[in-house]
Amino acid sequence: ATPTALLVGTGRGAQLGILIKGPETLESTRTVDTVVLDKTGTVTTGRMTLVDVVPGEGEDRDEVLRSAGAVEAGSEHPIARTIAAAAAERGELPPVEGFLSTQGVGVAGTVEGREVTVGRPDADRVPDDLAAAMAAAEAAGRTSVVVSWDGRARGVLAVADVVKPTSREAVAALRRLGLTPVLLTGDNATVAKAVAAEVGIDEVIAGVLPAGKVDVVKRLQDEGKVVAMVGDGVNDAAALAQADLGLAMGTGTDAAIEAADLTLVRGDLTAAVDAIRLSRRTLRTIK
Ligand code: ADP
Ligand code: MG
Repeated sequence: ATPTALLVGTGRGAQLGILIKGPETLESTRTVDTVVLDKTGTVTTGRMTLVDVVPGEGEDRDEVLRSAGAVEAGSEHPIARTIAAAAAERGELPPVEGFLSTQGVGVAGTVEGREVTVGRPDADRVPDDLAAAMAAAEAAGRTSVVVSWDGRARGVLAVADVVKPTSREAVAALRRLGLTPVLLTGDNATVAKAVAAEVGIDEVIAGVLPAGKVDVVKRLQDEGKVVAMVGDGVNDAAALAQADLGLAMGTGTDAAIEAADLTLVRGDLTAAVDAIRLSRRTLRTIK
């Protein structure tokens, strides 16, 4: 491809709300056959609402939410922002000492002398009543997290996310371009499958830790696939860098934007379709 044609393509991209790092990027887009889509914040809005607080036996509902909200206030994760905001609405949050955040797992910190954790459940430590509450939330397509302190599960919080209005249409357009969409998420399989069904994706890889996302991209590449990855989170950065083409949501984190080859300014998946079309058109005119 001539540099001029690629530059013209890059300029056209900017008009479409697609920021392209280097003109060469458009060339790697041409042979892409698989598009890996992160769930939270990419296919869904990531602007969640807290829909349920379930205290464990003998626990106080407000205390569960307040303790969780205090620790989550230190995290930028969409689940964290939702829980912290809901807790703050009910009163001032207590201070936290020794805050610790683990990508794709959750947060921990000391609140009023207790070691509080919020996040992915440790299966053997969740009592039956709370496990049932989690299963019910997940069956309804909601993500649930466990609040524990002093080594015991104290409650479950369920959050609901919504699919972006353009995601379904974008997935259909990717298919028409001959691409295979794959949903990749750290969230659990039940919730992931519900979202996949809603937007028309058949292939789901769920429960993946951030370090595992890059391995999934590598595995697909080892199978001979040419992979585009679309993501927004800190947890997507390594996978975006590994992919043959990394696309970051402009509404996402700086880490994702820095790791990607392209930024979709509007944070809308239809722009990913535009990017791939643009590349094909640009390269056709040059041939
Ligand atoms: P995704 O791949 O969909 O963007 P993440 O990898 O960010 O999801 O998170 C995966 C899972 O880890 C969440 O569904 C949740 O169970 C847990 N988790 C991660 N961060 C937090 C947090 N700050 N608070 C509670 N749970 C969290
Ligand atoms: Mg995400």
